[in-house]
Amino acid sequence: METLLALRALAADRVEITILAPEAKFTNRPMSVDEPFKPKRVRGLKLADVAKEFGAAWQRGTLDRVDHERRVAVTGEGDELPYDQLVLAVGARPEWEWDAKSYCDGHNGEANRLLLHQLREGRISRVAYVKPPGPSWPLPLYDLALKTAADCVAHGRAGVELTLVTPEEEPLAVFGHAVSDAVRRLLENGGIALHTSSYGVMSQEGRLDMSPGDRSIGIDRVVTEPQLTGPIVRGIPFDIDRFVRTDPHGRVPGMEGVFAAGDATTFPVKHGGLAAEQADAVAEVIAASAGADVDPQPFHPVLRGVLLTGGPARYLRADLGGGAGDDSMISAQALWWPPNKIAARYLAPYLSRQTGAAGDVHLPADADAIHVEVDLGELLDRQPAGWAH
Ligand SMILES: Cc1cc2nc3c(=O)[nH]c(=O)nc-3n(C[C@H](O)[C@H](O)[C@H](O)COP(=O)(O)OP(=O)(O)OC[C@H]3O[C@@H](n4cnc5c(N)ncnc54)[C@H](O)[C@@H]3O)c2cc1C
Repeated sequence: METLLALRALAADRVEITILAPEAKFTNRPMSVDEPFKPKRVRGLKLADVAKEFGAAWQRGTLDRVDHERRVAVTGEGDELPYDQLVLAVGARPEWEWDAKSYCDGHNGEANRLLLHQLREGRISRVAYVKPPGPSWPLPLYDLALKTAADCVAHGRAGVELTLVTPEEEPLAVFGHAVSDAVRRLLENGGIALHTSSYGVMSQEGRLDMSPGDRSIGIDRVVTEPQLTGPIVRGIPFDIDRFVRTDPHGRVPGMEGVFAAGDATTFPVKHGGLAAEQADAVAEVIAASAGADVDPQPFHPVLRGVLLTGGPARYLRADLGGGAGDDSMISAQALWWPPNKIAARYLAPYLSRQTGAAGDVHLPADADAIHVEVDLGELLDRQPAGWAH
């Protein structure tokens, strides 16, 4: 989606775009963690409508293999899609390590809603949120644990035992020290027991063992995330974890005209905001090659995340590109605009326009003046008449 929107903004009608995707709708998966707490389901956007709005062709199907010599993408249905440039944004492959009762992968709002209902009714009281080893999405288990703790308080459920088990040395370590310290306090205040540098293993029904060491706790439910591995697309080289290697502009080495962005790539942090930054870098190269006046910039990873807490959301930011030292930031006020859970130059304003809200997350009304990042690329392109800068 970000590549499509960026390409249209940067290259206008210099490029013909075809989208190949297996599902009929785009859903904003990060907001799925909010779904169990709300009566309404997360709405999706019909890809056919989005494609039409941006003058792209849309084909429902899966990519089976790439025949780069002939410059065709072959679908699972046997269709051949010719290309000059190919962008792989097929995501990571989720792997389920164990038979937990509840997963958090953006597709199980109903299972998590049931779990919440059982907690509210007092039918269960001990839930462990367990982060798997290896690549995984940083935020969702923290969102769910904090929101669940707040929900239990709101429903007068005393005696609930929530535990978060993570291999990270510090909570949300990838966001840096300031964020980790503040998140540790948030978990403490929510009464959530935290076990860092730990791996959770379900040894027998009703117990979670933690390694290293011989700790074990009683549990009624485990909520976990899938481990992420690379997608493997036939015809595309992949590294040892099956992720696709790219250069800083998203080019797949040795395959001229083939790009990859997002969770499918070897970049170690799997996060929608970073996926969008990679997509922008790719779109810039393609737009420039199509003759647009664009100076393609390499992917510079700035991690932006919104942590849902059940109270005011927290905006987290860290520059992963080096050179800025530990610039870890956390704030109850939005640090970028629009303040969406997926911070994306083109997709975030687009999603905001669809919902009519400033961002995904409710903003406090008493916001003090603070520094906010606004990416003007999209705003200037779509500037309405009479817009005052
Ligand atoms: C519950 C949850 C909460 C999250 N919270 C946040 C958050 O707060 N902020 C944030 O920035 N990120 C968050 N993330 C991570 C974010 O959703 C991902 O990093 C992001 O979606 C990655 O984008 P992507 O396009 O690389 O892959 P995906 O979003 O996984 O999209 C891949 C697409 O490719 C399609 N596809 C797969 N295989 C094929 C094939 N062979 N042919 C054609 N199409 C194919 C898939 O159907 C899918 O449409 C969260 C994730 C989850 C699950």
